[in-house]
Amino acid sequence: MDSSQLERYARHILLKEIGGSGQSRLANTQITMIGAGGLGSVALYYLVAAGVGKIQIVDSDIVSLSNLQRQILFRNSDLGEKKVFAAKKNLLQLNPLVEISVWDDLFSLENSSRIINRSDLIIDGTDNFKSKSLICKVAYEHKIPLIYGGLSQWEGQVCLFDPTLPSACFNCIYPNAPNQHVEENCVDLGIIGPTVGVIGSLMAGEAIKFITSAGKPFVDQILTYDCLHGEFRRFQVEKREDCPVCS
Ligand SMILES: [Zn+2]
Repeated sequence: MDSSQLERYARHILLKEIGGSGQSRLANTQITMIGAGGLGSVALYYLVAAGVGKIQIVDSDIVSLSNLQRQILFRNSDLGEKKVFAAKKNLLQLNPLVEISVWDDLFSLENSSRIINRSDLIIDGTDNFKSKSLICKVAYEHKIPLIYGGLSQWEGQVCLFDPTLPSACFNCIYPNAPNQHVEENCVDLGIIGPTVGVIGSLMAGEAIKFITSAGKPFVDQILTYDCLHGEFRRFQVEKREDCPVCS
């Protein structure tokens, strides 16, 4: 690291759990962020600021006016732009040292192997069951750890699924797809912006911890946040012995 990098990352390097070696590990890591919406906005900001070496961003949406209430990576001037290109432009203004590549595409079974190839960590910032279920399956097939985040109105949750450990996966927790009507309604029911920020920050925190081996990861437990009642809760989750994804 040169002197400007040492200065940029000084407050992380000062942490004994990260130090110079942890900062080097961050610089030598490739993360794939699937979804550049609300969770992606926040997680990407912190991961780029933290100096993760390579980040690829996958999303096929364009920035729309109703996104700006919580997707803080985007500005009014980005309206109508593809999210991945606007995200890359804004993130490089924060930290030009990070290598950012983009996939202007929906994450699918067909393109999944090409996208996550060489990733050290996947972060799921998508907003629907079908994508989350697919991302989990692909992560386990390729044995790449996955940080999951989910949102609903005032609440959110976060968890780490590690295929290298005998631990629970997304499919263990949610083995059945929700009724289509229920899922569509959740989008219509709204979402409070700051909860997105809390969960996106927790996901970035788990990512930094995982990469630097700091602290204890949220494995086999799920952390939930309820903004309306000001409550954090932690639940144990159990691996299903008959789970078709992780067993
Ligand atoms: Zn499972």
